[in-house]
Amino acid sequence: MIDIEEYILLSKEERQKHLRLDEACIERGGQSMYCKGLLAHILDTTIPSGKKIYVCHACHNAKCSHPYHLYWGTPSENRQDEIDNGGITIWERTVAKHGLEVAKDKNKRNGNTNGSGNKGNPKSEEHKRKIAANRKGGRKKNALVA
Ligand SMILES: [Zn+2]
Repeated sequence: MIDIEEYILLSKEERQKHLRLDEACIERGGQSMYCKGLLAHILDTTIPSGKKIYVCHACHNAKCSHPYHLYWGTPSENRQDEIDNGGITIWERTVAKHGLEVAKDKNKRNGNTNGSGNKGNPKSEEHKRKIAANRKGGRKKNALVA
């Protein structure tokens, strides 16, 4: 058995060797992530956890569950797969959901890291007092206040 973390380092060609794209798609319903165990069995890898390794469709049919149309891919390969399937980019999705101006603003915020976290929640006077008490006297004093 090959560790999936090592397997994913192989070239895309190596990871697509098993494909049989001359066979027709099989649509069984459900999401392709349900095929993880089956794909791991066929390719003799471990099953990936987290969001670093995806089940990708070489046939560009998102509804397809044919195990020999699926391969282990990286996030960018999965993204490209979705776009090839007629999906939209994250940017297009954000614009569609929030409108262009908000989308631009959301994008801008990513570059702004001046440490103004928790800006949206103004602290009450009570909260500020507790923070001040904690800073000066530690937990004991705060426990008396509460
Ligand atoms: Zn297919």
